Amino acid sequence: AVIAHKEKVEPTVHAYLSDSHEEALATAEAVDKKIAAGEEISMLAGIPGAVKDNICIQGQRATCASKMLENFVPPYNATVIEKLQSQDFVSLGKLNMDEFAMGGSTENSALAKTSNPWNADYVPGGSSGGSAAAVASGSAVWSLGSDTGGSIRQPGSYCGVVGLKPTYGNISRYGLIAFASSLDQIGPLTRDVTDAAIVLNAIAGHDHRDSTSIAGERPDYTKSLVRDVKGLRIGMPKEFFGDGLNADVRKVIEEAADTYRKMGAEIVEVSLPTSKYALSAYYIIALAEASSNLARYDGVSFGMRVDADNLVEMSTKTRTAGFGDEVQRRILLGTYVLSSGYYDAYYLKALKARRLIKNEFDSAFEQVDVLLTPTAPNTAFKFGEKTDDPLSMYLEDICTVPVNLAGIPGISVPAGFGSNGMPIGMQLLAPTMGEEVLLRAAYSFE
Ligand code: GLN
Repeated sequence: AVIAHKEKVEPTVHAYLSDSHEEALATAEAVDKKIAAGEEISMLAGIPGAVKDNICIQGQRATCASKMLENFVPPYNATVIEKLQSQDFVSLGKLNMDEFAMGGSTENSALAKTSNPWNADYVPGGSSGGSAAAVASGSAVWSLGSDTGGSIRQPGSYCGVVGLKPTYGNISRYGLIAFASSLDQIGPLTRDVTDAAIVLNAIAGHDHRDSTSIAGERPDYTKSLVRDVKGLRIGMPKEFFGDGLNADVRKVIEEAADTYRKMGAEIVEVSLPTSKYALSAYYIIALAEASSNLARYDGVSFGMRVDADNLVEMSTKTRTAGFGDEVQRRILLGTYVLSSGYYDAYYLKALKARRLIKNEFDSAFEQVDVLLTPTAPNTAFKFGEKTDDPLSMYLEDICTVPVNLAGIPGISVPAGFGSNGMPIGMQLLAPTMGEEVLLRAAYSFE
């Protein structure tokens, strides 16, 4: 049924870059047999999902929506895929994204144009635009995205679905093609908070193959699906409600705060003064790490190669032809901030700002249980509106990047609509490994 529906909506939405219907149907049949034989099956068994195209599934192309990796077939599975396959994962295919997860509208994909299922003139957000659009249009029941600076939460907000960025280290990054390794995290996009908890259960856990993975057992996150916020202290950081905030978004978040108040939560104003440096710090740290991570695409080891007379020319030609404008811009900026003479002024300074931002979140969580903010300052925008002005695109990340810098978990939950008819998400944040209180707060609002 999902495949039939997908065939109806995909000609307008274009969430997918590739399909794996045959494998999907074979797994579904195997699940049917297990059920008929009275075997126990996992909660996710047979429920069709799909995966962002920067997560490796053995034997299926993983393009990162880049010409560079257009024909790259990974020889191994990401840890999240291994875990899902052990639970009879039905995978419908791989989803579109901004090239190498760099962007906020999926317009940077070199391979396809994904539109917002609510209105095809609007972008789905990004970089996990395909993951959000697939769930919003019903061409997948759930999906995986990745979030380096908001790429799960922001498209979740723009497409009216739930997007969860877990704590840095809760989910293994093994087999996630790296953008900025100290910020990247895989997470679910789903129709509701219940599904988010179920997918989180399936993918969370320590992994010895990821050195930044957090040790220890994970709780059963579905136990947090409790409708109870009595006495819960919810902080609203005043810096997230500044001048640049769209009036519709402000109204929706304030109404959400009222809803919580009526349910018995306590709303308190808090301050995160250093968060005003988060966007600058993020666009230094993320680009520095990206310039280093993307050095591996040299025409020798992975993906595309443009032949030339010597090695340097071959590598230069390959990178010129293989990377799009935004990726090239970021590699240049990232290399610049890491170069000797500028390292202290930019990269080191950004790392110091990052530590201060993290410390401020820690002290805020001494006063409150969760934080409530907008997910993005605006609703989805129309195609082409921001493509000539990268800075205006970067500004859409202002509410989400502090969270990745601090490594804490965040979730975007649908909270209302703008006067343009497009969905608006609210963002909830919790302390490190505080996914349980985060899910409880999010579930209570639904
Ligand atoms: N929009 C942000 C960027 O362009 C975040 C991307 C992401 O989270 N992958 O860097």
